[in-house]
Formats: sequence, structure tokens, C-alpha cells
Amino acid sequence: MTPAAPTLNPHILIVEDEDAIAAALAYALSTDGMTTTHVRLIVDARRELADRRPALMILDVGLPDGSGFELCREVRASSTLPVILLTARSEEIDRVVGLELGADDYVSKPFSPREVSLRVRSVLRRMSVAPGQSAMTLFSVDEEGQRITFNGALLALTRREFLLLKTLLVRPGRVCSRESLLDAAWGAEAESGDRTVDTHIKTLRAKLKAIRADLDPIETHRGLGYSINILGGSA
Ligand code: CA
Repeated sequence: MTPAAPTLNPHILIVEDEDAIAAALAYALSTDGMTTTHVRLIVDARRELADRRPALMILDVGLPDGSGFELCREVRASSTLPVILLTARSEEIDRVVGLELGADDYVSKPFSPREVSLRVRSVLRRMSVAPGQSAMTLFSVDEEGQRITFNGALLALTRREFLLLKTLLVRPGRVCSRESLLDAAWGAEAESGDRTVDTHIKTLRAKLKAIRADLDPIETHRGLGYSINILGGSA
């Protein structure tokens, strides 16, 4: 169970209309052994995506010819390309919107280019494991029987816990917001807030830990939500 080594010199597409920010990012990424292409417009980003097939896209939300959210949605509809969104606004609602659109991470301006570079590495490490490969070899979901086994052992789950875990397992490595988890597990019956999700995640964690104390596959993303992450983890 060793994750494939991330490509040595991944190519990163930077879509950002502020040259100074793009230059600082390109510098930090190149120091970290990555190559970059910088474009300022969505129309150019589309061309680069088709021509160069980058390993990851860093995408500004506010661009002269449209919204990064739209491009993110568009990309997500047809590919698993990792996307890190950059925004000038720091409201949590934007984070949630970005993650619901399928972004893999989210950075608010002002940020340290070095930190963005670390996030890029972290996302690439997660993606270097084929989707579902790591988590799914340990988890097995039986939709019809509403059962999930972990490390070969059948988990004794309540219906809500089953739905929560199943939702997280659909996209290993991706962050699910508390809202989306609440919606998936409680639907129209959702009356209580985020804490309901947190409480159920806590019991889920305990049940997983009882089987494999050395793993903590449910990762907490402060202010954002949860993801399933076994290899690469939060390290
Ligand atoms: Ca901008």
C-alpha cells in the first residue's frame, strides 16, 4: 500500500489576472520543482487545458472574462483535474461554493505562495493514488445491503452513519462540506445543524478505530468539512 510517487516535475496551470500574484506563485512552485504556465483569461485557460494537460490548475475566482467558479464547474464536468481556487473574498460561503463545485482546495488572498505550493503538493499526493484505490481497498460498500466493511470487518452502522460514510467514500480525498453531508444523510429531515454531523462523524471514527487503531481515515478540514483520506493523509 505505497502510494505512487507523484510526478517529479508536475506542470501547473496558473489562471490569474494579477501578474504580481501569478509571478510569486510561479516562483514558489518552480522552487518546489514544478513547471508552470500562466494565463490571465478563462478563454486562454481552456486552450491550455486542452493543449498541455496540466497536472493541476490554480484558478483565480475573479477573472476579466468570467468567474473561476464557472470554469471549475466546467472542468469538473469532464475531468478529474485537481483544482485549487484562489479568492479575494474570505467568506466561508465562498469556500463552500468552491468545494461543492468540486475544487480540491481553496486559498484566500492574501496568501503565502509557499503555502500554496505545499497545498499543491498535498493535492497531487492525494491524486497520485488512483481515485478510490487507497480507501476503497480498505472499504467495501454494499449499497443494496446498506453495509460497509472496513479492513474486512463488517461495520455496525446506523442508517445515518452508513449514509455519511458512503457519501465520503464516493470521492476519496475530496472535502465534503457539513451541509452536503447533512443533506446526504438526513435530507429533508435535516433539522439540526453542523453539530449533528460532527457527532456522527465522531462515533464513526470510533468504530473505524476499533478495527484499525493505526488509521484515521476521516480527515477534518477546519471550517470546511470532512474527507476520507488514507494514503498521503494530512501529513
Ligand atoms: Ca482576479
